[in-house]
Amino acid sequence: MWNGITFDSWYERFSRFAGDLYPGRYTAEYVRELVEMARRVRALAGEKSSTIVAHNYQYPELQEVAETVGDSLGLSQYVARQATPRVDFCGVLFMGETAKTIVGDRSRVYMPDRPGCSLVASIDQSRLDNWTSHHPDGVIISYVNTDAATKARSHYVCTSRNAPQVMAHAAREFPGRRILFLPDKYLGAFAISQSGVDPDRVDLYDGACHVHMKIGETALEEALDRHPDAELLIHPECGCASSCLAKTVVAGPAHGKAYYLSTEQMLWHARNSPSREFVVATEMGMVYRLRKDVPEKTFHPISMLAVCEYMKMNTLEKLLDSLERDRVEILVDGEIQRRAHAAIRRMLEIE
Ligand code: SF4
Repeated sequence: MWNGITFDSWYERFSRFAGDLYPGRYTAEYVRELVEMARRVRALAGEKSSTIVAHNYQYPELQEVAETVGDSLGLSQYVARQATPRVDFCGVLFMGETAKTIVGDRSRVYMPDRPGCSLVASIDQSRLDNWTSHHPDGVIISYVNTDAATKARSHYVCTSRNAPQVMAHAAREFPGRRILFLPDKYLGAFAISQSGVDPDRVDLYDGACHVHMKIGETALEEALDRHPDAELLIHPECGCASSCLAKTVVAGPAHGKAYYLSTEQMLWHARNSPSREFVVATEMGMVYRLRKDVPEKTFHPISMLAVCEYMKMNTLEKLLDSLERDRVEILVDGEIQRRAHAAIRRMLEIE
């Protein structure tokens, strides 16, 4: 499939589907360089038996050189099934850690860089210590968008899709015990509202994603005003989308045609919906993916500010360097890995 890396195909694709998303990035000269690097990356991946995966929010060229593109937990489960000796994970650091937590010693996991995440950075372990000292039998539920150390001290991990089910399950399994949900306060509010759990039993950690803060509280309404015939597609993978989720599901739809969908569901829905036009309420990278896979329809980003600078720290240049010099390897301490994996497994057993 990578024989198709040609200047003409990439230049046409990036100009058509990503030119307005990343203004000035895809000049002919730069695309020529990217094509050369991409061929080298694919050759090295073959030599080193590496599985390259990219998160949906990565730059188009990283999505193109990856074997598969998807959300964080899905990619980690994918690489665990491949069992290649090496994995190159293009995403933010907590995603690489999640992959390493799941694959364990079977594969070495590398990333082009070690990008942080503002949602993860909002977690202060001393605040967690304080909470557990006041509630020694309390139950901690952490979003998959957390570092390995936080997952390791959690009873359950959850995704944005299953957060209400995990909260309901935890409340049943541990009757009367206090629950802490972290770090995304919007996702936590959504989980409480949909789970039927008494809100007075749950403490919400006060974390949020900076991309959501940048987009602002009114972006959703403004985007729908600009495109009144569009359907709203919400891909609740990251903190940037969870407030839209809370608004449309908890507060009632701001719009009659709002859909809350995983990556694959979103692609299927966009192809099969009678609607020709969509507003995409998530990071910009997802818009490229949709435009490329469903070229006959029109996709608008919710805001031109819907860009995660952490995701965009990964570049093809850095991926090539990582493959050439075997860096940056992601390691997770054995005990943390064991406990974090247990919290992930408990979540998977609920579904
Ligand atoms: S979009 Fe927000 S939650 Fe997702 S990686 Fe970026 S900072 Fe973290």
